[in-house]
Amino acid sequence: MVGGPLIDNLCLDGITDEVQDLFHGMGADSYVRESQGEHALTELCQAVLRGRPLEEVANLITCPKDDWVANRRRPEANDLDACAIDWQSFTPDQIGMTAQTRTARSCAFKCSFCDYPTRAGALTTASVDTVRRELRAMAELGVKNLVFVDDTFNVPPKRFKELCRMMIEEDLGLDWYSYFRCSNARDEETFDLAAQSGCRGVFLGIESGDADILANMNKLAQDSQYRAGIARLKERGITTFASIIVGFPGENERTMQNTIDFVNETGPTFWRAQPWWGNPRSPVYRNKEVYGIEGAAYDWSHATMNSKEAAAWCDKMFDRVTESVWLPLYDFDFWSLPYLEGKGLGVDELVPLLRTTQELMRERDGQHPDPTRLAVLHEQLAKDVAALDMAPARFSYAAS
Ligand code: SF4
Repeated sequence: MVGGPLIDNLCLDGITDEVQDLFHGMGADSYVRESQGEHALTELCQAVLRGRPLEEVANLITCPKDDWVANRRRPEANDLDACAIDWQSFTPDQIGMTAQTRTARSCAFKCSFCDYPTRAGALTTASVDTVRRELRAMAELGVKNLVFVDDTFNVPPKRFKELCRMMIEEDLGLDWYSYFRCSNARDEETFDLAAQSGCRGVFLGIESGDADILANMNKLAQDSQYRAGIARLKERGITTFASIIVGFPGENERTMQNTIDFVNETGPTFWRAQPWWGNPRSPVYRNKEVYGIEGAAYDWSHATMNSKEAAAWCDKMFDRVTESVWLPLYDFDFWSLPYLEGKGLGVDELVPLLRTTQELMRERDGQHPDPTRLAVLHEQLAKDVAALDMAPARFSYAAS
């Protein structure tokens, strides 16, 4: 069975021909059409165990013959304490050293490029005691690295401090990674508690280093808060990852230069940029006329930029950001770090390798690649790979 917000999202316009094809392609036996889905999962398990027809399970999509058919809808409002994961029902080898968990659902913000809070409803949190029980069980299974997948782990700020104090008190030897909002971390204590409780890395949805673009995005964040937050995180040895959106309505050469300067001046450990993905269901589309937005997804234009120009700016950023290490958008992104940490490969070992890779890509894809420089970089990359403290059979590098 496959479910969750992505499946729910796919079905917003019903079970279209495209969705039929996707569901056949994904190859699951059934899909859950509900942004939560814990209740549907429980009912599905009960139906299977008791031999009841799956058509009775609300929010389920099944394929009785050739086509996928949606059962009746029943919106879920699940209590996160009641839906806590019973980690003891897993064995250590099923979980591994790095585990993902969630302590809250939805998000308290309304960024104008995002429709997630509309789909997921009000911010709902699990109690600190529920989180405590889950962490104890995970530590008993041998988990060392935790990824909190909450959309903004440090909001509400008071609860975040309670969670950190609980983790310090429990002293379970767990390192953790999460999304983090610098604009809502306003005192030194927040950063101290994060570091003391095991925070090793944070994903920062910076989106832009320009005040006008941040206002258009309704980020409720200021450049100064970002700057102070990144500095405080770095002081405490916490890995920072800045995610940037390029080409949001209002974007132009000046705002892009401000963003490039921002990344170079603040120097987060890692960064990446992606063109704005125009989501017609997001709040900014209500101001479509004001911004002159036409098109959607990765094919759009508005009064100050179009999607091709945004892609070109992503390339320019790649060349001009020199004080932070680039991570790709897919396959090897921020969330790979805790996984690799669990395999014994730390950020300090990865950074030299990634820096060399970036330099090599810049030289190779530049207008006049210098063969001598390329050879030096290839040699350096081979050394960086060899320096990784891992079994050689698992990492190898060939210049070809
Ligand atoms: S992008 Fe903004 S609105 Fe969307 S989940 Fe993140 S913080 Fe919330």
